[in-house]
Amino acid sequence: MKLKQTAVKILDILEREYPDARVTLNFQNPLQLLLATILAAQCTDERVNLVTKDLFKKYQDVADFARAGLNTLEAEIRPTGFYHNKAKSIIRSCQMIIQKFNGKIPRTMEELISLPGVGRKTANIILGNAYDQQAIAVDTHVKRVTHRLGWAKSDNPDKIELELMGVIPHQRWTMACHQLVFHGRKICMARKPQCSACPIAQLCLKVGIARKE
Ligand code: SF4
Repeated sequence: MKLKQTAVKILDILEREYPDARVTLNFQNPLQLLLATILAAQCTDERVNLVTKDLFKKYQDVADFARAGLNTLEAEIRPTGFYHNKAKSIIRSCQMIIQKFNGKIPRTMEELISLPGVGRKTANIILGNAYDQQAIAVDTHVKRVTHRLGWAKSDNPDKIELELMGVIPHQRWTMACHQLVFHGRKICMARKPQCSACPIAQLCLKVGIARKE
């Protein structure tokens, strides 16, 4: 109970601190968010946005991506890394969306994770940001910050998602993840967390943080 109450206080502070917290991939529809999220694996959102700026002009719908040539698409997304697997996932996912889902991006976790290259994190990003559902997307920042806060213990992102469901109020799931990501990028960085400048320091358990005192 205490953990949940503290979590609400922390999220209130983070909400004030990061009023612009949001998904930082550029997209205009669920398809673009799905593909940008696939491209963002092991890549920065900034780099993905540079690539998708041209990509989304050339390929405008699911059918365009479904009939893309593998070699051509690989070359176009190459700057995002792991381009062979990503290109295959994009083409096969779009073919499957046409064949199984009538050309529409699925709206359920079960259907989304049936697409190649789509795991729970990607699915939760789509559900939370394209379809306005409450969803917890566990990326490297959410994992690190919530470990330090004492909200989650597991190393497995799927288990962390479950742990966080028990700590973060349901109506805040999607935004809480954005706020934790922004905080992880700005203050609670992997190597040198800025605890002395952190607005939630008084409420943080600082699990795994070496203390100087
Ligand atoms: S107090 Fe330190 S460990 Fe806790 S959230 Fe802030 S920067 Fe991260």
